[in-house]
Amino acid sequence: MRILLTGGAGFIGSHLCDRLLADGHRVVVVDNLVTGQMSNLVHLAGRDDFLFLKSDVSNFIFVPGEVDAVLHFASPASPNPRSPFGYPALPIPTLKVGALGTHHTLGVAHSRGARYLLASTSEIYGDPQVHPQDETYVGHVDPIGPRSVYDEAKRFAEAITMAYHRFHGVDTRIARIFNTYGPRMRADDGRAVPNFITQALAGQALTVYGTGAQTRSFCYIDDLIDGLVRLLAAEGPGVHEPVNLGNPNEMTVLALAERINALTGNRSPIRYEAAESDDPQQRQPDIARARALLGWSPSTDLDAGLRRTVDSFRPRA
Ligand code: NAD
Ligand code: UDP
Repeated sequence: MRILLTGGAGFIGSHLCDRLLADGHRVVVVDNLVTGQMSNLVHLAGRDDFLFLKSDVSNFIFVPGEVDAVLHFASPASPNPRSPFGYPALPIPTLKVGALGTHHTLGVAHSRGARYLLASTSEIYGDPQVHPQDETYVGHVDPIGPRSVYDEAKRFAEAITMAYHRFHGVDTRIARIFNTYGPRMRADDGRAVPNFITQALAGQALTVYGTGAQTRSFCYIDDLIDGLVRLLAAEGPGVHEPVNLGNPNEMTVLALAERINALTGNRSPIRYEAAESDDPQQRQPDIARARALLGWSPSTDLDAGLRRTVDSFRPRA
């Protein structure tokens, strides 16, 4: 296939790009580098099965040649207001790429008869009142809260994706991605894993927001990519419904911080900072649908994934 991948210079997008090329596909990345990094793609320069176009998908998309699949991964993804690369610092671009960017990418898929996959998120569940979260849970999102620029944009993105499927017959897929980590995350986008690893490698105190009792479930990037590729290829009943992709291994943020200190040998104490407002207090994917539909479940345990991520961050410390 010839695949249009938006957000391909980012963390997930660049790993997906590598996997799609390794599987024999041709890939066109469109990215405006608002949070992405060319260093994630530099190893692909000069390949004739790879094309990079620097462009903002919220404005327009023009891709010459055939397109067999469109994968929409462009969006700021970090909720941290302390970082210039988090979506609180990019509120309008985040709303636009989730709304206009999704509309434009669906338009490409519709006009070319291409399959479509949306990168959605566990954030559409908001601060969940159902635990663990399965795909039938409709969520608990504050439409004007600090995270709403991301959450509501992704909820709109899911709505317009289903509308293009139901009304135009576009062959769509929706992946609800839970916290994923690994090499190529920006060291400075403020998400917990890169923040903690960067701090630990510098021998600094890890910054835990609030008590650290809030929970997340962390999935290693290779496992996520495998689930995404399976979802893209899946056929038959149920493939157009949203599918949770994540690792059900739930833990507190404090436990994550302590694990990273242990793996790096960092002896600095934890530094507790003010809690983020609107911070979801618990999050764990129910992946029964992904197991049944895709035969998928994650296989990388936390220590193995963290070790690989720590090693990839070492040269930067
Ligand atoms: P990232 O910031 O590393 O990558 C996002 C990429 O999108 C960047 O390269 C950025 O430059 C690009 N981009 C943003 N706006 C754009 C625009 N208007 N036009 C063109 N390119 C644009 O983030 P990530 O973690 O790789 O996330 C990728 C996707 O996966 C996002 O859609 C995000 O919402 C989703 N997601 C990620 C996670 C996670 O844990 N990493 C969880 C849930 C969902
Ligand atoms: N977090 C933290 N310290 C940091 C960065 C994040 O305690 O330096 C917390 C954050 O408040 C949240 C959790 O870690 O409770 C996960 O944050 P992240 O930004 O990685 O992802 P998300 O909130 O989108 O799940």
